[in-house]
Amino acid sequence: MDNAYDLVIIGGGPAGLTAGLYAARARMKALLLEKALCGGQAMLTDMIENFPGFPEGVAGHELSARLEEQAKRFGLAVEQAESLGLERAQGGAFSVALSGGRKVDALSVIVASGARWNSLGIPGEKELAGRGVSYCATCDGPLFRGKNVVVVGGGDTAVEDALFLTKFAAKVTIVHRRDRLRAAKILQERAFANKKIDVCLDSVAVRIEGADRVSAVAIKNVKTGAETSLECSGAFILIGLSPNTEFMKGLLRLDEKGYIITDDDMKTSVDGIFACGDVRKKSLRQVVTASGDGATAAAAAGHYVDRIRGCEYK
Ligand code: NAP
Repeated sequence: MDNAYDLVIIGGGPAGLTAGLYAARARMKALLLEKALCGGQAMLTDMIENFPGFPEGVAGHELSARLEEQAKRFGLAVEQAESLGLERAQGGAFSVALSGGRKVDALSVIVASGARWNSLGIPGEKELAGRGVSYCATCDGPLFRGKNVVVVGGGDTAVEDALFLTKFAAKVTIVHRRDRLRAAKILQERAFANKKIDVCLDSVAVRIEGADRVSAVAIKNVKTGAETSLECSGAFILIGLSPNTEFMKGLLRLDEKGYIITDDDMKTSVDGIFACGDVRKKSLRQVVTASGDGATAAAAAGHYVDRIRGCEYK
């Protein structure tokens, strides 16, 4: 327990980095673990135009780099390593298992491992991600002013975001694999009444085309087998999200979709483990809400560590 960190943060997106910033400023001995590059979903976004304080917008990679730099400036240790599991260690600490067989001990843990947009796995999707292929209409919609865009999906997110996209795009085509949309009826009514929206039912996207940026989405009618091409500058893949909680299964209380259930202080079902950002059950997944969660989680973790060290001030 003497060598244990006060706090280990799992995940280096905006939630984890903000938690790290607050923990470092509170002079906690904190370590942030990130399996790839810091930035999380924000790294996938060309330009973030809705983060307060950047009236001209900020590139996703730039905001991510700035968040990391800011947290490190106050002493946060950041290490590139994948967290494979978490268990109680001796003396009330937790032991985080890392790739490569190493373990680190911590008195408290913040899980900020995020969620990933489900992808279609079709040709062109990965190659053109961030260059017309987007998983976030709120983030990227304004970049398609006057352009044609395709939205793949039929749920609330797809239809609500298609409506949002009509504020900017010349035309929005929803491509959905079944003969009816899944979205709430009121959203469907609005979509069918909107002159800028076309709905292609019984259709799947089979390929995203473009040399350097998206130029078209090839779709196939699942009933007739006929293939057509929809010319567009943007392809929004909005087919649901999956939380990165596989390594937490059996330890924390999750909802039916695998998101971590927390209270308002970001406390999970296990005392000493907190969760923040997209990985937790919440209603709005944005950089700004992830950062807010991160600050709250770090403050709660700080109080927890003070309490178990017996130095909590009243
Ligand atoms: P969702 O409800 O899981 O819907 C995903 C959609 O994508 C479905 O239409 C599904 O088709 C389609 N899909 C899934 N995998 C696909 C694939 N491989 N290829 C093609 N299509 C695929 O996800 P969501 O729309 O992101 O919503 C997530 C949750 O947030 C839901 O509970 C939703 O109600 C909620 N939400 C609510 C609001 C609101 O109330 N305003 C707004 C946004 C989200 P099928 O229909 O054929 O399964």
